[in-house]
Amino acid sequence: MSSKEEKIRMLKKEFQETNTYNRPTYCQECGGVMVFKGVGEYQCEKCGFLAYDDYGKARNYLEKHTGATTAQVSEATGVSQRSIREMLKEARLEIAANSNFFLQCEICGANIRMGRYCPKCETAYHRNLEEQARVRNEKMAGFSTERRKAEEGSKRFKREEF
Ligand SMILES: [Zn+2]
Ligand SMILES: [Zn+2]
Repeated sequence: MSSKEEKIRMLKKEFQETNTYNRPTYCQECGGVMVFKGVGEYQCEKCGFLAYDDYGKARNYLEKHTGATTAQVSEATGVSQRSIREMLKEARLEIAANSNFFLQCEICGANIRMGRYCPKCETAYHRNLEEQARVRNEKMAGFSTERRKAEEGSKRFKREEF
């Protein structure tokens, strides 16, 4: 292997490690530099070969298969479900209101359109944190009602931080 090839290989590796969407850097046909064209599309400046990053692949697939699920997109494009998830979180992928393109709630597995939890689990999750905070407060604080009333305002403020 020539030192030039070695260098390209190292550059590729370096780039992939800092690049979540697997942006194509070099043309797979001629080794030319891939130039960004927009919406996840890249074109070789030498031969005109087109390639897509994960975002471009997922987006192209979704344009043709409006009803696809995360798993189907992942299987068809080779983009990991995790990457698709990340893109949805960053709102880089737009989901049509009538599509069946869903993420799964990390707690109960219900279908959701963005984020990590369904609204039900999200609420339950926060209630649980609030309950824990309340129990801690009651253990620590004396049971003077006067005092608790006085703290009510600041407690409510703290709760909203969760
Ligand atoms: Zn090329
Ligand atoms: Zn859930």
